[in-house]
Amino acid sequence: MPRLHRPSPLPVRCSVLFALSLAALAISGAALADAADAHIPPPQDTPYPGTIAIHVDASDTRQGIFRVHETIPVSAGKLILLYPKWIPGDHSPSGPIDMLAGLKITAHGKPLKWTRNEYDVYAFELEVPQGVANLDVAFQYLSGRTPSQGIEMTGKMLDLAWSKMSLYPAGHYSRDITFAPSVTFPQGWQFATALEQASRAGDTVSFKPKTYNTLVDSPIYAGRYFKRVDLDPGAKTPVHLDVFADAPKYLEITPEQLQVHRNLVTQAYKLFGSHHYDHYDFLFSLSDELSGNGLEHHQSSEDGMGPGYFTNWADNAPNRDLLAHEYTHSWNGKFRRPADLWTPNFNVPMGDSLLWVYEGQTQYWGYVLTTRAGMWTPQQYRDALAMVAANYDRNRPGFEWRTLEDTTNDPTAAERAALPYRSWQMSEEYYSGGQMMWLAVDAKIRSLTHDRKSLDTFARDFFGVDNGSFVTKTYTFDDIVNALNGVVKFDWKAFLDRYVDQLEPPFSKGLEASGWKLVYTDKPSTYARQYEAGSQSPRHIYNFTYSIGLTLTKDGGINDVRWNGPAFKAGIGSGAQVVAVQGQAYKAGVLKDAISAAKDSKSPIELLIKDQGHYRTVPVDYHGGLQYPHLVRVKGTPDYLDQIIKAR
Ligand SMILES: [Zn+2]
Repeated sequence: MPRLHRPSPLPVRCSVLFALSLAALAISGAALADAADAHIPPPQDTPYPGTIAIHVDASDTRQGIFRVHETIPVSAGKLILLYPKWIPGDHSPSGPIDMLAGLKITAHGKPLKWTRNEYDVYAFELEVPQGVANLDVAFQYLSGRTPSQGIEMTGKMLDLAWSKMSLYPAGHYSRDITFAPSVTFPQGWQFATALEQASRAGDTVSFKPKTYNTLVDSPIYAGRYFKRVDLDPGAKTPVHLDVFADAPKYLEITPEQLQVHRNLVTQAYKLFGSHHYDHYDFLFSLSDELSGNGLEHHQSSEDGMGPGYFTNWADNAPNRDLLAHEYTHSWNGKFRRPADLWTPNFNVPMGDSLLWVYEGQTQYWGYVLTTRAGMWTPQQYRDALAMVAANYDRNRPGFEWRTLEDTTNDPTAAERAALPYRSWQMSEEYYSGGQMMWLAVDAKIRSLTHDRKSLDTFARDFFGVDNGSFVTKTYTFDDIVNALNGVVKFDWKAFLDRYVDQLEPPFSKGLEASGWKLVYTDKPSTYARQYEAGSQSPRHIYNFTYSIGLTLTKDGGINDVRWNGPAFKAGIGSGAQVVAVQGQAYKAGVLKDAISAAKDSKSPIELLIKDQGHYRTVPVDYHGGLQYPHLVRVKGTPDYLDQIIKAR
């Protein structure tokens, strides 16, 4: 799943809601019945006759325009073309239909009229005349031009995701439709993809035909500055790191960095005992311009970080778990998938109820494999985990009203929009809350089996089956319980239920059962300092969450207010700005000093707040000093955490 997203601008969302509520007043019973049946034929598991040729001209990097042309074999009668709506890995109806423009459909050079389905903006309908065997379908897919729109094409690189730039016929499973893809790249650029090249003429490359499922699962990265790194030399199933950078200097990789990335492959094989691809490509952009990314596929992943991933390695530990996370998804998510998340095509709604396995356990293994590979030191792992644990210790009061499972609705409910009260509304807690839960499961298995078995046993049993196959194997909640019982008999249903389906899950238990506990001191860890300073979104954020209950931008903008924390109780809301602290102009350092000084004082910390154009002074009655999370050993208990992160 992508952990970075194209944000939705809030004003548009609000006006859409307003328009809907007015329309609802006038809607009739008949219209409601129509709306329930949008007359789109449900997908059948039958082959679509013929092969659809699709060409993308991706050479217009100056204006950020992908020009698409499809030749679709058809027969006379009604035809519905769909634009993918439910995007694998997004777990949500996030297909960017607003970025499709200029749609023209012709037959024998003559334009055909299309209309959009009245109740589904992703469906285009037309009548194919007698005697027409092929349709020409042309449109543009427009890359965003500003960071908030999401930039997929720059003057130096591009990310071509087929789900965004293709239309496909309704009525068939997506695995039953064959596409023959080709792409024209900017002059002299190189590319990487899990697709296999069939032929090449200049900058135009034709790829071997694939099912629509596989095409959508096989994006292409291309760019001016490129390096291909073999992560498993001599292997029958090759694994490559395909790096595209803003400038050649960012492509420099030290022998030590190469080694830890190779270790990632070795450690994943030792964990899962299998692979589910013929070859694997990490499509990796290092850029300040192209939007960051993290989206899993079966035989590749779209990964995007800032340019200094290699060259600024020592200062850049946070987010270094990205590759391990997306790679784990080849096993957990692509090969094994929750039954309600599997859909026959990309316009049937997905069910997200088991994302605490799909994403939660992937988040767990992402951290662990990063450390087993040597991309994090044990200290960096513990400092990263301390930040996660602290969030669930102090910064998620929303579990008073929502369950972990309820947050699996967030990809659809919130689509990663900015939230005014994050700690209370909560968002997608199945990632990190799931991670804390799987730590508890791992520690429980170890203690029940006297350390003979662990969550590694589960991973091998559950994800390591059918080596070499990448036919998706679905599972239900009961399958998870049964697989855990296969590792060691226990009341796993009740155990999981306590975390997933009840309020206030006991997230700290796993940490304590692993021999560690969370403490707070007045100094952040090096990892936490790097996190605050890092270039990756949402950084340049100063974290006073666990003390006064605020996170702030460099200029004092209030990014978040902890619900029921000291600042919240004093009446401060998010979106305001801290202008001064104790009469002195705001800087993060000034606030730090004031929080420290207030520890030995009875007077409140006075903040001058600018809120929607109005200034007011707010006294915050807080005397607990600075608070930054760390993990410390619980003496006399087994150190499972150390065993969990040791290289296999
Ligand atoms: Zn993910």
